[in-house]
Amino acid sequence: MAGARPQTDVNRTAILAHLGAQPASRADLARALEVSPALITQLTRDLLADGLIEELDAASSGGRPARMLGLVSRDTTAVGVKVAPDHVAFVEVGIDGVVRRTDTRAFDAVSPLATSTLVALLREFISAGSVKGLLGVGVGLPGNVAQQGIGVVDSTQLGWVQVPLGDQLRRALDLPVVVENNVNALSVAEQLFGRSRGLKNVLVVTVGNGVGAGLIADGAIVRGRAGGAGDLGHVPVREDGPLCQCGNRGCLEAIIGQNALVNDARSIRLIGPDEGIDAVRALADGGDAEAREIFAHAGHQLGRALAGAVNLLDPEAVVLLGEGVAAWTHWAAAFDRALRSALVPGKRGIAVEVERWDDDRWAQGAAALVLATPFDAQGVAGDQGRLVRERLVAAIDGRS
Ligand SMILES: [Zn+2]
Repeated sequence: MAGARPQTDVNRTAILAHLGAQPASRADLARALEVSPALITQLTRDLLADGLIEELDAASSGGRPARMLGLVSRDTTAVGVKVAPDHVAFVEVGIDGVVRRTDTRAFDAVSPLATSTLVALLREFISAGSVKGLLGVGVGLPGNVAQQGIGVVDSTQLGWVQVPLGDQLRRALDLPVVVENNVNALSVAEQLFGRSRGLKNVLVVTVGNGVGAGLIADGAIVRGRAGGAGDLGHVPVREDGPLCQCGNRGCLEAIIGQNALVNDARSIRLIGPDEGIDAVRALADGGDAEAREIFAHAGHQLGRALAGAVNLLDPEAVVLLGEGVAAWTHWAAAFDRALRSALVPGKRGIAVEVERWDDDRWAQGAAALVLATPFDAQGVAGDQGRLVRERLVAAIDGRS
């Protein structure tokens, strides 16, 4: 694979994903993936040689027939897991990225039995599906993972220090396992299936309980020294601001994270002590000026912080997602003003895309790690990339 570039790798997986959904011609693929027909010709030639795709009967309707391409095996799947402090969410997706089934279970991340519980829950979920075509398991969690293919986790949210999760899961499940920070996992899914497909430089930003960012530069995720790149939530905003989960004061997340917004609403008695973010949003939806001001303030702060990130990284687009986008109509105007006014003139036109959100998305992102892995020439997934690829080929050889 010498000479293969990261962008090419994403496109190979995107071709498989696209063909997993439906057969397509090379021209269809070039249009859908927004890349040149010449690149599609080259990539499909490789995939044909690998036996992963095949030419179907020509669909002729006058003129030159367009040769349709299809996936050799559509029965391959990946399992994705989102690990949160108090629950785990599972999805099984097809190679087209479409969710086939889901499950959510209670989980106690700080329990000494956390990893063995996770293994048991994963076994249960996996055995309820078709194990035969399963390519591997992707795990997304809030924290730092130095190398996806090794999967040692540091997470203040989960209370984990140097937990060798990847190793433990691989040994227990006898499957390829890729572990990654959850926002980075979402960024991989965005590159494969989302709004940032075809773009090489994107800032993927999540707002919710936490605030995070996935940085895609030259088509690859920027991971930093130990997987800690993208901690947008801990950009310092206010010197004497509220205490953050990280131990510092005045981080962006401590000011605009969902808990902070709920605290703000409670402190002015806008909502009761037992009410949460949904109550604040309902008030804002109903026109309550104070509730709207809480979201507008959050939008303003996010806009300013993101302007700094955009000025620094010069992405083609910003993609916003996460639980917090449910209230985006109340963030949007203040966000946009703050962002554009703090950008340098040449960058003020940057595209900002707000993605629709549902709760499966985190686990879907984790599953996308597995789907992206077979063509991971950068080697971020280490040995796991090779193992997933072997299973992909084996699934095809096993067909009859
Ligand atoms: Zn912080």
